[in-house]
Amino acid sequence: MALIKILNASMGYEGKTILSDLSLSINAGDYVCIVGENGSGKTTLMKCLLGLMSIQGGEISFGDGLMQNEIGYLPQQTILQKDFPASVSEVVLSGCLNKKHTLFYSKEQKADAAKNMELTGILPLRKKCFRELSGGQKQRVLLARALCATHKLLILDEPVTGLDPKASADMYSLIKQLNKSGITIIMVSHDITAAVNNASKILHLSRNSYFYGTAHQYLHSDVGRKFMITDCPCDDCRHNHRGGAQQ
Ligand code: ADP
Repeated sequence: MALIKILNASMGYEGKTILSDLSLSINAGDYVCIVGENGSGKTTLMKCLLGLMSIQGGEISFGDGLMQNEIGYLPQQTILQKDFPASVSEVVLSGCLNKKHTLFYSKEQKADAAKNMELTGILPLRKKCFRELSGGQKQRVLLARALCATHKLLILDEPVTGLDPKASADMYSLIKQLNKSGITIIMVSHDITAAVNNASKILHLSRNSYFYGTAHQYLHSDVGRKFMITDCPCDDCRHNHRGGAQQ
């Protein structure tokens, strides 16, 4: 059963439709990258998936026991977040807020936060002030925070924006590791090469149309060819390219 099923959905603002007739399924374990030009509706789609805005028509349904308030979300970094005056562990624990029923965090929530700090490599930084960290460390803290909200699905909005190449590579590798551990990933990205190299599926949004398929299908599609400058990295295609070069 699909984790998320979108059927003939339209999305937009006050009479203005941005995305129309969108139909796709995201399965447990998928790693989906959403790409497309600015203004193509990537954020709008994410807001609808998170329940922050209603769809104009069609249907979005969740399967596999997923509840909309159990989605882990890593938003784009804002100036406010960058200067947040709290400790690393306080920021991570705040990811449990959707499951907090009393004034205090439970033992289980604290253990979950510690596990997620360990997983993202920030446990030694737990007592530091968030605003004193590097950009890459901050993103790992916010990823650990998002993990506190979910064991199933992470939605990441341009998680490497502003990071240097090493911190970006570390972040991509961490996200891949989380996906391999069973967490479904939906990531908005402007880095199409990294998207194709890491994701199992690509959703490319354009005005009035969209492409949804595997990274391999994307590289062989008209829209993929237009946006990509690299050859398909899959084994079959590599053989073909090598064969071609030898002839
Ligand atoms: P992307 O994330 O791909 O850059 P967005 O989903 O942010 O695209 O925006 C898609 C379109 O919706 C743009 O034309 C944008 O101007 C418009 N838009 C975004 N937010 C609002 C809003 N709150 N009210 C009206 N229009 C909006």
